[in-house]
Amino acid sequence: MIVPKFVINPGHGGSDPGAQGNGIKEKDLNLMVALKLGSLLQARGIEVYYTRTTDKPLTLEQRSNYIVQVKPDAALDLHHNAYNGQARGIETYRSAFNAKSKKLAEKVHPELIKGLGMADRGIKTKLYPNRSDWDYYHMIREPQRKAGIPVIITEAGFIDNTQDAAIMKRADFSDLEAEALARGICAFFGVSWELNLTPILGPPQATVAQAQAWARSKGAHQRFIDIAQAYWHYGQLTNIRPEVLYAQSAHETGFGHYGRAVHPEQNNWAGIKVGREDAGERTEDHETFATPEEGVRAHFNHVCAYVGYEPIGKPHPRYEVVKSMPWAGTVRHVEELGGKWAPSPSYGERIVKLLNALLATPAPGEPQQPELPTITRRIGVMVNGRMTDITGYLINNVTYVPASAIVEIAKGQVTGHGDHIRIIL
Ligand SMILES: [Zn+2]
Repeated sequence: MIVPKFVINPGHGGSDPGAQGNGIKEKDLNLMVALKLGSLLQARGIEVYYTRTTDKPLTLEQRSNYIVQVKPDAALDLHHNAYNGQARGIETYRSAFNAKSKKLAEKVHPELIKGLGMADRGIKTKLYPNRSDWDYYHMIREPQRKAGIPVIITEAGFIDNTQDAAIMKRADFSDLEAEALARGICAFFGVSWELNLTPILGPPQATVAQAQAWARSKGAHQRFIDIAQAYWHYGQLTNIRPEVLYAQSAHETGFGHYGRAVHPEQNNWAGIKVGREDAGERTEDHETFATPEEGVRAHFNHVCAYVGYEPIGKPHPRYEVVKSMPWAGTVRHVEELGGKWAPSPSYGERIVKLLNALLATPAPGEPQQPELPTITRRIGVMVNGRMTDITGYLINNVTYVPASAIVEIAKGQVTGHGDHIRIIL
């Protein structure tokens, strides 16, 4: 896949403040929106470049030269307007000579109108005086003329208009504008807005042996390697992906070395707090579990509260605290754990990084085929009311009978393939 390249030029900067009024400085607002926009695009796989990421002055030539040099697939010149105090609303300028600039404007402008609740002044073109073949605005004209690069200018609201300024001063304005711009730019590139999130639920996508090989390669403590089996056991009981929780535990315990507030004797693999709502960060603020396996059960139960599953056995006190949260039962993706399991918004991403490394670890030698049991035993089996002797295999004192033998006796049929078969007798 070709990664789209995009340049963001936050207008003005340094000694050039741009428009000012109603307590807003254009250069600062431009930069704030630009940086938020950039991270939204980067999260969706778009390669982002900025003409500036700090409050510094640049000439128009420096900016357009930078764009020509980077040669992105498209670029945005990000501004906010000012005129006579009366004018208000959003306008977008595009090149009169570049079809992609027109397309970009047509994707971005409606998102701004929808997202910001300001008047629609439309998509505009403006020609250079006495030149029918040049765009008026330097930042649109030069990249187009020199390298055919599509650029648009967005002017999202008039800083000197009290109505627009009231909207622009809302705490979430820069987030909303960044999102509107990002949605439009993603649509322009055909990049999906929905992020590829990492599901917490489902069957495991790694084996115990693979997880242990990964843990070993990271210098994990033996206790962390040994506990993997228990994770896969509870994964099977709950439908929660064990490798996700195992990766989380690697993060929480430093691969079983601990060394922070939680001590190894607490058997607390996931940094679970005690039941008190005001529990802090000290050792005694963290729960202690009777055995390492009990700690794993608690880890799964804790996640059960996040995803809305019934706990296995009696849950630990902190489970109830999570259950009382407004978002209890709604969490589906590892990325959503940020700000919930831990205060950091990037908590989930850090676990995903560990998880991806785990998933990328090759399983050591291929999973050994389970040895065929050699002890056979004839046992009587009642099929459709008729007792018949069947040869079974003795494993751990239990006799296992092949389904095919029963089907044969009953003259039934087997359908299906792979891991799922259906027997009709
Ligand atoms: Zn400006």
